[in-house]
Formats: sequence, structure tokens, C-alpha cells
Amino acid sequence: MSDWDPSSWRAKTALQQPIYADSDSLQGVLQQLGDRPPLVTRWEIDRLKTQLALAANGDAFLLQGGDCSESFAACRADPIEKKLKVLLQMSLVLVYGLKKPIIRVGRIAGQYAKPRSSDTETRDGVTLPSYRGDCVNRSPFTPEDRLTRPQNLLAAYEHSAQTLNYLRALTEGGFADLKHPENWELDFVSLSPQSDEYHQMVRGIGDSLNFLDVLGGVTRAELSRVDFYTSHEALLLAYEEALTRQPSGEAEWYNLGTHFPWIGDRTRMIDGAHVEYFRGIKNPIAVKVGPSTTSDGLIELLDLLNPEREVGRMTLICRFGAERIAESLPLLIAAVQQSNHPVLWSVDPMHGNTMTTENGIKTRHFDQILSEVRESFAIHARHGTIVGGIHLELTGNNVTECIGGAGGLSSGDLSTAYESNVDPRLNYEQAMEIAFLIAKQARV
Ligand code: PEP
Ligand code: MN
Repeated sequence: MSDWDPSSWRAKTALQQPIYADSDSLQGVLQQLGDRPPLVTRWEIDRLKTQLALAANGDAFLLQGGDCSESFAACRADPIEKKLKVLLQMSLVLVYGLKKPIIRVGRIAGQYAKPRSSDTETRDGVTLPSYRGDCVNRSPFTPEDRLTRPQNLLAAYEHSAQTLNYLRALTEGGFADLKHPENWELDFVSLSPQSDEYHQMVRGIGDSLNFLDVLGGVTRAELSRVDFYTSHEALLLAYEEALTRQPSGEAEWYNLGTHFPWIGDRTRMIDGAHVEYFRGIKNPIAVKVGPSTTSDGLIELLDLLNPEREVGRMTLICRFGAERIAESLPLLIAAVQQSNHPVLWSVDPMHGNTMTTENGIKTRHFDQILSEVRESFAIHARHGTIVGGIHLELTGNNVTECIGGAGGLSSGDLSTAYESNVDPRLNYEQAMEIAFLIAKQARV
């Protein structure tokens, strides 16, 4: 691509970028980042793209999930293990229900930069810069914490590397309990109206795994090693540019800071810097699509980001909200069908369903999340298209950030264990319940 290079985005308007007071030290940090080894390889990225191509055609399913915003403080063994565990357990439930391979992708090892609706935040008459993710500044509401520091970019790279290092170790075969669903923490299942069916599924998964186990040998080894990929919103373009490389001197450019970067809903303007950056990298990429996406705008984006119409290159992560999906999604499906662009349709039932309680707490209701998932499957079925994936904000810990689910969390419970610095996540039980509900729906 002769009219593109990793810095060509700099000639365009880049929204949601932090302002650095000390540009010399920013340059120094970017230089250091550019010298660091990549976090992932092009082989892994190419393999993921091949798998996403299967999902686009309905022969696999993408499970993508993790924190809204990772924090450096949560770069510890326990939260990483729990996040991986919930995603792996969900993937077993899904594989059992959907009868297709599940592609597991974390919002992890790099999800450190956040777009914000306002540049500043005011509390009790005090106005400070907004928190933009640990990659930029810190969350506590003090002038010191909200300072934008170039060093945080290096820290983001280092925390990503540490997280990924541990994930790689775990997925190489450390997660034995995965094969024993009887050890999963599924007490909540008994509280669900679908309790009998879920228990039956858990037994079914256990039986299938036992069956594979008695086959022994190769199968056992394969079971204990799993593919796991990383993704994040590639928002801070200077950081992404520093990790964009030509593997072993080849002509193609890859973002080697993550397998699967995406463009957020706020930065997908056709003439903006983010779209300019993304068009030149070879990774599979995703774009968030919402109520403000027009049919013509979407096709223009697809033409620019995937001119070769490569299957597996483009994922559309749809996040309309339970109330809007029925009016918005069919128009976009029709436009994409008419354009003949190959896309993987994924559903993000989180970002269109955020609300604030009377006490000012940001939350989401499980019923609305579920309703958007159901609607998405129903609408695609009517149009002859395929839901090839789901995108969730979740954690493996027992947080109380979203309302509802079989465990019956109420708005009064939210303050018990609300840990997210940005958007509310499904907890372990709520995330597992979503997996059971999708699996159940697919089996009827
Ligand atoms: C997010 O995924 O955390 C996010 C900000 O989403 P969106 O771009 O869809 O609003
Ligand atoms: Mn979010």
C-alpha cells in the first residue's frame, strides 16, 4: 500500500487522544516502545484470521470478552486466572450447545485506553481531566492522578507483556479443572428457572469430556492446550504505531501489540485518523457499529477497510441496545448483503444498554443484555445471515456491577463489590448464564 505507512494517520483528525504537556518525553517513550519486541506474532494473527473466516460463514463462533478497562492494579495472578477460566468454561458450554469450534478472544493484555464522552469531569464543584485508562492517567479523582504521563504508555506495554506471558503459560496446559465441570462454581444454576436443563448440559459436557479422556493419548494432550487470543480498542494511535511492524522485513505491516484490534464507536469516522491507521494493517480487525451508523457509511467503511473483500478480515461488533436493535440492525444487514461484503456479525449487548441508577451508579440490566442477544439471533435468522460471535464485558470475579441474572442482584446490591473504573461487567455467574442461554437456544 504505497500511500500508507504506520504514521500516515498523523495527517488526519485523531479524536480521543490525550494531550501530553512534555512532548520530548513522549517522543523518548515512543522510541523505546518501538524498540521493544512484539507481543504477538504474525503466525498467530494469520491463524486467528483463518478462524474468523470460519465464524463469518457460520462454521465457528467468536467469544470475545473481558474488562471494559483493564487496570495495572489488576495485573495479578488471581484476576487473570479467573478471567481466563470464565472464558474457557463459557467456551465449553458454547461448543456443547452450538456444536462448532469456539474462538476465544480476551479484551485483555492491552485494553488500557478509554474513549470518554467529556474531556473533563466535575465533582462537587471541582473539575479535572477525565480518566482515560491506565495507559494515559489514573482513576482516583485528584489533580495528581489525572495528569497525563507518557511513562504510562511504557507501563501499558509492560503490563500487557506480563499478562500475556501468564496467559500463554496457563493455556499451554495448566488448567486441568476445565475438564471437570462438576468442579465449576455453578450453584447459581439451581436458582435459574432453567435449572434442570442447565444441570443436564453440565452433565452432558462432563460426559463428553470423559469420553474424550478415555480415548486418551493425543486427544488428552489437545484438550489441555487451548488457543487464546488478545484484543483491545486501538485508541491511542501513537502507541499502536510504535507496535506496528513489518515481520522479518516483509512488505506487510501488522499490529504486533495485539491479535485483533478494534475501532470504537466514537472513532470510526471515514476520514478520521483511526480508519486511516487500520486500513494499512494486516490483522483481522473489528469495528463497533451502533445506532448512529448509516447504511451508506458502513459500506464506505467496508470498502476502505477491506477492499479485497477478504473473508475473516472484518468483524462488525453491533451494539445498538435492546430498544434499538430491531429498528437499526435490519437496515445494516440489508446494506451489507447488497454490497456482498463478507463480514462476521458479532453482538455486543453491553454498550447500548448502559444506564445510571437513582444513586448515580452506572449499571446494566441482565434482562436487557439477554434481550439484545436474543433479538440479534432472531433478526439474523430472518435475514438469512449469521450471528458469528458475541462481545461481552465480564470478569471472573464476583463483582456486583450489573443487575439481574439467576443470582437476582438488585440495584441495592451494586455497592457491595463494584470494582470497575469504567463500564459495569457481568460477574462469573452472569457470564456463565449468558453462555448457557445461548447454548440452550441453539439446541431447541
Ligand atoms: C468499549 O468497548 O468499552 C466501548 C467504549 O465501546 P463502544 O466503542 O462500543 O462505545
Ligand atoms: Mn466499555
